[in-house]
Amino acid sequence: MIVLGIETSCDDTSVAVYDSEKGILSNVVSSQLIHAQFGGVYPEIAAREHTKNFLPVLDKALKDANIVLSDIDAIATTFMPGLIVSLVAGVSGAKALSFSVKKPLIPVHHIEAHIFANFIKKEIEYPFLALVVSGGHTELILVKEFEDYIYLGGTLDDAVGEVYDKVARALGLGFPGGPIIDKLAKEGKEVIKFPRPLLNDEENKYNFSFSGLKSAVIREINKGIYKQEDIAKSFQNAVVDVLVKKTVLACKEFGINRVVVAGGVSANSQLREEFLNFKDLEVHFPPMYLCTDNGAMVAYTGYKRFKEKGVAVSLDFEAKARCRIDKFPQLLRSFHA
Ligand code: ATP
Ligand code: FE
Repeated sequence: MIVLGIETSCDDTSVAVYDSEKGILSNVVSSQLIHAQFGGVYPEIAAREHTKNFLPVLDKALKDANIVLSDIDAIATTFMPGLIVSLVAGVSGAKALSFSVKKPLIPVHHIEAHIFANFIKKEIEYPFLALVVSGGHTELILVKEFEDYIYLGGTLDDAVGEVYDKVARALGLGFPGGPIIDKLAKEGKEVIKFPRPLLNDEENKYNFSFSGLKSAVIREINKGIYKQEDIAKSFQNAVVDVLVKKTVLACKEFGINRVVVAGGVSANSQLREEFLNFKDLEVHFPPMYLCTDNGAMVAYTGYKRFKEKGVAVSLDFEAKARCRIDKFPQLLRSFHA
């Protein structure tokens, strides 16, 4: 089965082709560098860029995969959550394609796609704990099986990727900030012991809060005492410490020894290293090129939904800015084509 995957939930326009026999045939990602000058994503510009880039990206994805539109068996696209004006661009494209080539339209949840990017190379056994760390999410989810999710907790304020981006901006570095701070931290040492927010907080065991940490880091940056690399290292130590300890705590409490890390921040080198120190945990990370937004994770998750659940939706299923992952499977059922 050949599935086309479309992803436009934020500032990357991506189209990929997944073949259930051969794997990923193509994965074209067009990143909107235009936002770098603002240090964040501008919704209206993002929407315009998606509209401009969609057809050229689709065309390249088909060419790279060496197929034509009529070879496709189904079209999967991210419907939620994300920037609504960005989502609508991809969803409209997917609907138009589904209508014209008369192939099923398979809806995908963006966070689900980040998690299942880990399955593309090799399927992982259930149950597992998913730690989702991205530009808009910081969540702990117990995945009992595909489409059976228990939401344990999430951030009460900023997402971890967003904080990386804001700290990088305060340091006068580029966007996105995550990879830059990651690299810089390798040369630094922990000169300030920043707070580890909500660690050992019984009421918020599986919740996160990074906005206070962000402010504390920015205050130190503005004092101008410490070197950039030392600030980066001190900040990253606090972040990684919280992420790893909360995940390990959830593993103990639920008696699970399998962890799947997902989303853009799963590319972080220190997060990877520190998880691998837990020898009795089986920890999975996506390959580096599938950590941030991409169409391949959408194509694969769509394929999985169609194969295992037989689900496709009618053209009146709509994009939504928000939807928690555990609510998504139920929402789908009411739009079953
Ligand atoms: P969401 O998935 O929540 O909708 P998004 O799609 O914008 O948000 P992703 O593409 O999953 O987010 O991830 C982008 C984020 O990952 C950015 O905030 C970026 O700074 C961060 N990031 C990327 N690489 C690294 C890294 N090596 N270390 C830390 N953060 C990183
Ligand atoms: Fe994402």
